[in-house]
Amino acid sequence: MPTKLTVTRTEELTPSLRRVWFRSDDLSAFAESTDTDRYVKLIFPQPGTVVPDDFDVKAARTTWAAEDLPVVRTYTALFPDVAAGTLAIDFVVHGDEGVAGPWAARVQPGESVLANGPGGGYTPDVDADWHLLAGDESAVPAISAALAALPEDAVGECVVLVDSPAHEPRLEAPQGVTVSFHHRDGSDAPLAAAVRALEWRDGRVQAFVHGEGEDVMKGVRPYLLAERGLPRADVSVSGYWRRGRTEEGFRQWKSQLATADG
Ligand SMILES: Cc1cc2nc3c(=O)[nH]c(=O)nc-3n(C[C@H](O)[C@H](O)[C@H](O)COP(=O)(O)OP(=O)(O)OC[C@H]3O[C@@H](n4cnc5c(N)ncnc54)[C@H](O)[C@@H]3O)c2cc1C
Repeated sequence: MPTKLTVTRTEELTPSLRRVWFRSDDLSAFAESTDTDRYVKLIFPQPGTVVPDDFDVKAARTTWAAEDLPVVRTYTALFPDVAAGTLAIDFVVHGDEGVAGPWAARVQPGESVLANGPGGGYTPDVDADWHLLAGDESAVPAISAALAALPEDAVGECVVLVDSPAHEPRLEAPQGVTVSFHHRDGSDAPLAAAVRALEWRDGRVQAFVHGEGEDVMKGVRPYLLAERGLPRADVSVSGYWRRGRTEEGFRQWKSQLATADG
């Protein structure tokens, strides 16, 4: 059964990142979740339809008309506090296109959304010699959660891609982790360029890199896995969204890419 989240307040973190705080009577689904990239699947009803609180997405695929099925969007869940029943999601506000971004840009306290999950797949490994955390605004929530989970003596590089200095979020990092901001310059793979430009450190690195699909999957991923030869198990690298595609179109692109990769 999904978790019902009700908006309590919002905060503007930067011109393109809006934090929405939620309350829930039952956050038990988060009790066992320890991955710092924990994510939920938010369920947005189609206009004119009602999605019940006990909505079963799998069952609905066979019983609902395709055009009535709600839109599902993936977001990182921050600071889940099961006892207090609170959590936050930082939404990239990216204009009028899409469902979740525009919803977050205008949402007011009292409104609700259903969430399935959480899922997740990454936790900082305290035994790594150094950490590489890189991404654009969509990965800032997961990166900030990873930074908060690193031990005080952790070392590494944190690379964040945003539009301009005014869009740089505040990030708390251990002293040994260098945080650098990069600004989009119109090039095709700005995150990959920023990661390539890093001075590579010695020792075993654990990497977490997410952002725009083309930049990450065609730029950063081959650099880390093929050129740097990092073991697959030490690397969490994937697209979080795809320029010019909705999340549905992005999922299709990812599966085509996976098929082509064999
Ligand atoms: C595991 C995971 C965790 C994620 N965590 C977060 C998170 O915490 N916060 C967050 O904001 N996003 C996060 N994302 C990315 C988010 O799911 C996508 O950005 C999603 O497409 C947004 O849905 P939408 O309805 O706003 O836009 P869609 O309907 O999917 O797309 C509409 C248009 O908006 C464009 N668009 C979508 N996202 C962006 C963007 N970030 N910047 C610029 N243009 C965009 C698309 O290219 C498309 O042209 C995460 C994704 C994954 C897979």
